[in-house]
Amino acid sequence: MATINDNYLKLPGSYLFAEIARRVAAFKEANPDADIIRLGIGDVTQPLPPACIEAMHKAVDEMANADTFRGYGPEQGYSFLTEAIIEHNYKARGIEIGTDEIFISDGSKSDCGNIQEIFGEDNKVAITDPVYPVYLDTNVMAGRTGTLNEDGHFEGVTYLPCDASNNFAPELPQERVDMIYLCCPNNPTGTTLSREELTKWVNYAKENESVILFDAAYAAYITEEDVPRSIYEIEGAKDVAIEFRSFSKTAGFTGTRCGYTIIPKTVKGRAKDGSLVEFNKLWNRRHTTKFNGTAYIVQRGAAAIYTEEGQKQVKETIAYYMENARIIREGLQAAGIEAYGGVNAPYIWLKTPNDMPSWDFFDKLLTEVNIVGTPGAGFGPCGEGYFRLTAFGNRENTVRAVERIKNKLHF
Ligand code: PLP
Repeated sequence: MATINDNYLKLPGSYLFAEIARRVAAFKEANPDADIIRLGIGDVTQPLPPACIEAMHKAVDEMANADTFRGYGPEQGYSFLTEAIIEHNYKARGIEIGTDEIFISDGSKSDCGNIQEIFGEDNKVAITDPVYPVYLDTNVMAGRTGTLNEDGHFEGVTYLPCDASNNFAPELPQERVDMIYLCCPNNPTGTTLSREELTKWVNYAKENESVILFDAAYAAYITEEDVPRSIYEIEGAKDVAIEFRSFSKTAGFTGTRCGYTIIPKTVKGRAKDGSLVEFNKLWNRRHTTKFNGTAYIVQRGAAAIYTEEGQKQVKETIAYYMENARIIREGLQAAGIEAYGGVNAPYIWLKTPNDMPSWDFFDKLLTEVNIVGTPGAGFGPCGEGYFRLTAFGNRENTVRAVERIKNKLHF
């Protein structure tokens, strides 16, 4: 009989969102008239920018004509998109990236989940805690970890705790690690790493021959000038870092699907024979073997965000979400709840009152004020005692939710 990849058995079920759905459904059944407001979703709610829609319509028309029809495109992406990205997101910030150092994809989840395939199986992985669960789970699947301990930690993984006590900035690990996942701005805490913090990590990676896997899916939400938009703003990062970006939260592409990964040719790893190999070469091989390119129509839509009107529209939508973030953050603080994030990211991370466990706070919020959020414990052991609210709802519901928390929640 065929055998399975036993590493998959180490993973707990996708407990978080299934459990949220179960608890909300049970509450709704018992309270059919309850006016539930959802501030738990990590999905956008505003439509695509009109500039993207227009570009996609035009691309659809091109597909209808034999002279302009496009079949398979370059797996790495069309140059009209890669060049626009390089120009706007990198060159404009003094960063040189070659067109052969960027790979367009169907989104960041695939990229930051698949990237581990080009690393050695026995690499030691460091992951900030709490964080987007894809980094850990994909390394579990690949066999780079042991089993899950009762305390919620996987054997063999270096967890980098981030909470209010270290201002959500992970400390350097005591032991040497090979792959370091950093998410900035971070999901779920909504916090960022300063230039100094990032410099510390780049220097560590250089000294230890490690690679930083830098997820900047929320870079477009950064409002503070001194927070780096890209890890390549840090000197030396082009030798040690791979960067992931996405159009999902930047421009509402969660359902349309487009993202990209930057792998400078200067980022290298060691082969078993001791020779140095460019990760770029390996990823190019993987990408061209396992991926057949992002749809032409979608890439046209993505490229439209770099036009003058596209930029204006994207900024307006982000400002809309960030105003929601401000309303939530300030509302929580006015209610006497400690709240973090929400300044450079659409996520607000709150400390549960009286150190209440995350799931107890979930139930309290749902039953007392009919609001759905996400328990922090679902993002890693260090998320226990915290809770995530998102700014992706509409304004009216956001305002109503905050009023309920301020006026009706008792703790
Ligand atoms: N990275 C982080 C930190 C995210 O929060 C998400 C989505 O929620 C992604 C990546 C995935 O983005 P995409 O829609 O491009 O796959």
